Amino acid sequence: MEKVRVRFAPSPTGKLHIGGARTALFNWLLARHTGGTFVLRIEDTDLERSTRASVDQIIASLKWLGLDWDEGPEIGGEYGPYYQSQRLHLYEDKAQELIEKGLAYLCYCTPEELAAKREEARRTGRPPRYDGRCRNLSEEECARLAAEGRQPVIRFKVPETGETVVDDLIRGRVAFQNSILDDFVLVKSNGMPTYNFACVVDDHAMGLTHIIRAEEHLSNTPRQVLLYQALGYELPKFAHVPMILAPDRSKLSKRHGATSVEEFREQGYLKEGIINYLALLGWSPEGTDEIMPLERIVEEFSLERISKNAAIYDVKKMTWINGHYLRELPLERVVEEALPFLKKEGLIGAEPTEEELELATASIALTRDRAKTLVELTDGVSYFFKDDWAYDEKGVRKHFASAGTAERLRQARERLAGVEPFSAEAVETAYRTLAAELGVKAAQLIHPTRLAVSGRTIGPGLFELMALLGREKCLARLDRAVAFIEAGLPAPEQAEGAPPM
Ligand code: GLU
Ligand code: ZN
Repeated sequence: MEKVRVRFAPSPTGKLHIGGARTALFNWLLARHTGGTFVLRIEDTDLERSTRASVDQIIASLKWLGLDWDEGPEIGGEYGPYYQSQRLHLYEDKAQELIEKGLAYLCYCTPEELAAKREEARRTGRPPRYDGRCRNLSEEECARLAAEGRQPVIRFKVPETGETVVDDLIRGRVAFQNSILDDFVLVKSNGMPTYNFACVVDDHAMGLTHIIRAEEHLSNTPRQVLLYQALGYELPKFAHVPMILAPDRSKLSKRHGATSVEEFREQGYLKEGIINYLALLGWSPEGTDEIMPLERIVEEFSLERISKNAAIYDVKKMTWINGHYLRELPLERVVEEALPFLKKEGLIGAEPTEEELELATASIALTRDRAKTLVELTDGVSYFFKDDWAYDEKGVRKHFASAGTAERLRQARERLAGVEPFSAEAVETAYRTLAAELGVKAAQLIHPTRLAVSGRTIGPGLFELMALLGREKCLARLDRAVAFIEAGLPAPEQAEGAPPM
């Protein structure tokens, strides 16, 4: 089999969205699975909408995800340059060639004239197609129109009859009537090529074997197939991957929450979680495992197992998968990923000390089983680093309000002062002994203590938590809780939300 060459060809008009990331991933996976080549090409010929910032963001997101390219920006390659804006002469040459062959022509219609005709078509209920008015202009007519100061576009002469077939690896044979494809523009009046034209010229020039892209592009493909034929190029294989829809089957948009890779990263998703989840958006492995580390996806990936059906985007599932990686990845990796979040929350310094790093590692080890994102993880360890938090309100009503709590916490504090060493086991023994002596259930000591030392009602094992926090902090926090309780809790009725008397 010929060596696979695939590409991801983003238009730099925004951040890398999960749909784009999924397209990039599927191309990358086919390249890595087959030992082929993954090319990154920037389609920046839309001058109004393309920005350098967007190129940078897309590149940063791809790198962060680990979708490395073998040819493209920053590294170059045999088929460069990899920015379409640097390949304009190629499109000019090819457009000229098509004009000479009689397969393309100059169209001098102005945008106003075209808009008026579209409006007319709309009024009379006809499809708003270009009417082919400039198809057969003589040289004199062209010269006259140019003399009027009109800037021509170059249009492709689409056959008026017959059909154009797209043989798609995923969607099968899809036929399009040529009569519905009007003479589309190849080169705009500002000299820039259109997407369809530049895409075909480059996909061929770059020797690409498979064009894997979103289903949204399927309607462009017959135009591209016609261009391949006109230019005498061999067709690549097409694979249009299914749409990603919101849970209500509407088009995925901002209102469904985060949609860019960058946002997910900021929300504390790991690349492992995102990649695993995206791979399952349209593709499925043979087995039923949903947790698929990247190496296994690479091993098992094939275009045959990509579904035709739309994939439903489910952020809960992605979060669940992310939680798995948070628990299972090597601790050092998770700590490394968590550090920027701890810094952002001011829990550790910009240049963390040895002590801060140790506490980060130990507290993450203790709490990561309960977190699904790095943001949750950061929240879960925050009380190890800072003291200025408030008690959980429900917890106060539940665990601080019963009679004798302050006294029991005071006793616990006295006991802890003498526990040696201050280990989880020793603290636990001290607590169980004290509970027995006081004739209360251990829970009556444990719940208020957890609230006192962490401000929360849930968390990791209390005795491990206390051992990590250390004696000094535990004692100080118990003192604070006693003072808080003795300062007077809201009356239960009031706490329940009844109006004050
Ligand atoms: N620049 C196009 C896009 O971002 C590429 C489509 C394609 O892969 O052909 O949608
Ligand atoms: Zn025209």
